Amino acid sequence: MLTDRTTLTQFLIEERRRHPGASGELNSLILDIAIACKAIAKRVAYGALGDVLGSAATTNVQGETQQKLDLVANDLFLRTSEWGGLVAGIVSEELEEPYALPERYPRGKYLLAFDPLDGSSNIDVNVAVGSIFSILRAPRPGVDATAEDFLQPGSRQVCAGYAIYGPSTMIVLTVGTGVHGFTLEPQLGEFILTHPSIGIPAAASEFAINASNSRFWEPAVKRYVDECVAGSTGPRGKDYNMRWVASLVAEIHRILTRGGVFLYPRDTKDPEKQGRLRLLYEANPVAFIVEQAGGLASTGRTRVLDITPDELHQRIAFIFGASEEVERIEQYHRDHSTVEDYAPLYGNRGLFRTSD
Ligand code: MN
Ligand code: MN
Repeated sequence: MLTDRTTLTQFLIEERRRHPGASGELNSLILDIAIACKAIAKRVAYGALGDVLGSAATTNVQGETQQKLDLVANDLFLRTSEWGGLVAGIVSEELEEPYALPERYPRGKYLLAFDPLDGSSNIDVNVAVGSIFSILRAPRPGVDATAEDFLQPGSRQVCAGYAIYGPSTMIVLTVGTGVHGFTLEPQLGEFILTHPSIGIPAAASEFAINASNSRFWEPAVKRYVDECVAGSTGPRGKDYNMRWVASLVAEIHRILTRGGVFLYPRDTKDPEKQGRLRLLYEANPVAFIVEQAGGLASTGRTRVLDITPDELHQRIAFIFGASEEVERIEQYHRDHSTVEDYAPLYGNRGLFRTSD
């Protein structure tokens, strides 16, 4: 059965052959991450039998309640990636500061950032969850990385990927040569290439947004969604479907599989916040994957991969998917940009009330 199938290991070795001079260390790191993902998939699959459901009675740096499985998954990522001498630093959604690598392990040339368990509020309801990871080059290889070392624009990522723990477990990743999906063969415990060269169609007829925030949306977003909802009777001239899983990994996976656009835009709910999703280990890796699949990823105003982060756990507005839709949403932001960007109280201003 395996003779005509490509394993993740085989795929990575063949990719590396096309880059003479590559040391193979990146491949080793990716394969270590794949082991963490397999272990997390097992824990997730045991569900209530594994005694890992429910909350851990602690909160993370974002003030969110940690689920037990958040902590288990974080530990699995750390254990599989800390020992190999491949990384100079590790940043996790669950850790306020970069992880302090144990003294006994050598420091490597890569930086690893991850969300060990994305969509963890979905675990208890048995809906797909995932892990997201991003790999950068360490500016100072061989020595402990500082937080500042991680503050690189996403365009410098050398690898980004996610695992999705759904009815089947998959890893989807890019090393800058397209996006490729691997399905876990549970008997062998091997990821097998099942989705080579994934592409996102430029046009879409599905959009994903949390509509309960609609009263806080900026005019550009409100206009875009209103036009989708108006369907064939509106300016778009065709009907749209809406989806919302509230799990970033499930959303990106759906969009890679059958197209569409996702929006978690900036809104006026909490004007201090630029958005909800975290730049380093959610938006950047997803943006790299989306662009490699032919889509676009934006804040509505800026290409995500161009942003130089200010801090490890920075949040941003995040809009990604079908290129024509993202371009349109960016255009709407430009159309409505002059006042709102500089008026903190604009939600109360008549100008925008009348445009509702
Ligand atoms: Mn997440
Ligand atoms: Mn998480």
